[in-house]
Amino acid sequence: MWDHIINIHSNGNYSVKFGYKFLHEEHLVKQPGPSENDTLKPLWKKIWGLNVPNKVKHLAWKACKDSLPTKMNLVRRKITTTSTCDRCKMHQEDAVHALLHCPDLKPLWCTRPKWNHGTLLACSSFIDVFDFIFAGNNEPELFAAVIWTLWNRRNNLCLGKPSLPLDKVLEFAQERLMGSETTNVPPSHPYGRSTTHWTAPEANGFKINFDGATFADSDSAASVTEVEALAAIRALEFAMELGFDDITLEGDSELLIKNLINEGSKLTHYGNIKADILFLLSHFSKVSLSFVRRHCNRLAHSLARRAIIPPIMSVWMEEIPPDLASVFLADLESLP
Ligand SMILES: [Zn+2]
Repeated sequence: MWDHIINIHSNGNYSVKFGYKFLHEEHLVKQPGPSENDTLKPLWKKIWGLNVPNKVKHLAWKACKDSLPTKMNLVRRKITTTSTCDRCKMHQEDAVHALLHCPDLKPLWCTRPKWNHGTLLACSSFIDVFDFIFAGNNEPELFAAVIWTLWNRRNNLCLGKPSLPLDKVLEFAQERLMGSETTNVPPSHPYGRSTTHWTAPEANGFKINFDGATFADSDSAASVTEVEALAAIRALEFAMELGFDDITLEGDSELLIKNLINEGSKLTHYGNIKADILFLLSHFSKVSLSFVRRHCNRLAHSLARRAIIPPIMSVWMEEIPPDLASVFLADLESLP
């Protein structure tokens, strides 16, 4: 038996409620699998072949799959009740509205004749949009980079955070997101910090503590490290869905963290899981991996041990289970 534990601490005012609920719902909908319509395969191939950072390809793909947490999708999933765009307050916000059709974005889209604003307005889905962009070879890389920048700008606006002015979006996309070789920043890896208690992340960053647990009566053949690795995957997917870009992934499995840092080495029994983790890590602009002793990861550890109590999936947002309040308070009290 195993479970994943995600413990996010932020010094910002980001509410993780919507993000998590959406993630959970989306998890049930499932990502593309063997049943994927063959007609879309050439499009996916083109998107994954773009010379842009993985996070940009991922966003483009999600826009095509209509799986971004737009207002309409949140309503469809019964997470919110209003689907009106926060910016223009006139139209329903789906992906094409949020990133292309919103009147607020017109000054940007009109600056690039190649992207033919009229054609973009006529597209009702991102599949049509990318078909058009690829068909004319209309700077698809820059286009995808602008889409990524706009989505992040939109999220910041929704959260009331400082956001990039619209007239700087194109410049930002050109300078910061073009060319995967230069922009897929290799993760930095502070390692083996010697602390006696949980420490807070640096300003503007998020720390993701994860842990897995195995139980004596389990019929699973997974090793402890495999369980830890699966927990890390779930934690990273969560962080990605919430739009975090500067993260510290912290766990108490020395073997796993060491193995992730030493990217060249292979552990045969969970090589694929490791590849998945490294792929997910490549989506973030700034990544630190941190190994800490168990007493510095106590809350995640205690939550993982709690996985033996049904139900299989339990979620606490902005609160903690009462039986672990003392662990949480001890972490808080030990902060400088
Ligand atoms: Zn709008």
